[in-house]
Amino acid sequence: MRRAFAAGVMVKVSNALKFLGAVAASVALLLLLVLRVTSCAHAPRQQPAPGATPPEVVERRPDPPGCVSAGWTAAAQANAQNLKRQAWAPFGRTEVGWETYAPLLQREVGTACPPDSEGFAAAFAAWQDEHNLSPDGVVDETDFQFVKTAIQTRRDMVKLSAQGICPETADEIAAARTDEGYMGKQVHLRPGALQAYRRMVAAARAEDPEIAADPRNLTIFSGYRSPSADAARCAQEGNCDGVRRARCSPHRTGLAMDLYVGQAPGYPPDSSADPNRLFMSKTPTYRWLVANAGRFGFVNYPFEPWHWEWTGEQP
Ligand SMILES: [Zn+2]
Repeated sequence: MRRAFAAGVMVKVSNALKFLGAVAASVALLLLLVLRVTSCAHAPRQQPAPGATPPEVVERRPDPPGCVSAGWTAAAQANAQNLKRQAWAPFGRTEVGWETYAPLLQREVGTACPPDSEGFAAAFAAWQDEHNLSPDGVVDETDFQFVKTAIQTRRDMVKLSAQGICPETADEIAAARTDEGYMGKQVHLRPGALQAYRRMVAAARAEDPEIAADPRNLTIFSGYRSPSADAARCAQEGNCDGVRRARCSPHRTGLAMDLYVGQAPGYPPDSSADPNRLFMSKTPTYRWLVANAGRFGFVNYPFEPWHWEWTGEQP
């Protein structure tokens, strides 16, 4: 009797355990399913961090109207790729891609088509052909050196330094108005350069409302700098501007000026950090300068979107 009772209890307990086990298993399965679904729905997409290197294969954007050109698809794809990915050192410092220089290249080859478009590749091939380069429409380091040389040799300072000449410092300088200096800074230029600067700024503001909208645009943050002041700053602060200050800065001529063309968030307007230079290359102010500063006798140092030299007088 006792044993029978005990056996009966045992059976009941084992049934209850089985039942509980089944319930627990179902609940666990359900939980697993819910978790799976939840994690799928909310799985973060693999987004590149801002400023991270772009993916291996760069997708080409659709060509805008007027920039479609039959036969140039492969060249356009190659340009889309090296525009963002090519590691090189065109100015002695390793950088990636040539997007920062795209406005200058577009101007040299005479096209407004985006650098990764068929239209750009076709225009670039025509330019290559004119310069006895292989007309494949693809921007490579050799091509870029040609473009760079073409732009750089318009700068008198570059021509002089190639001959080992450092020009004398300006013997006459004029003060710019305080509203012409960046944040009210007092700057000086050679009188002819200051007049040319004023004509250019008036035209820029009249021609592009986006430039006129920000009074900082095209203000001067560095003009004439005396060689002795540069040398002193180099010695005292260790600020040698890549030793150019100490050696032979174009700013000694009173013909060179650093203009505000915008700044990437977190960077000062004269930062040569690659993200800042890339940002500047896309601002309306820089784009206007690339297209129009030549009308007023100004040329750009391609590595520094802010540095412009007036060619109206000899250094
Ligand atoms: Zn400068």
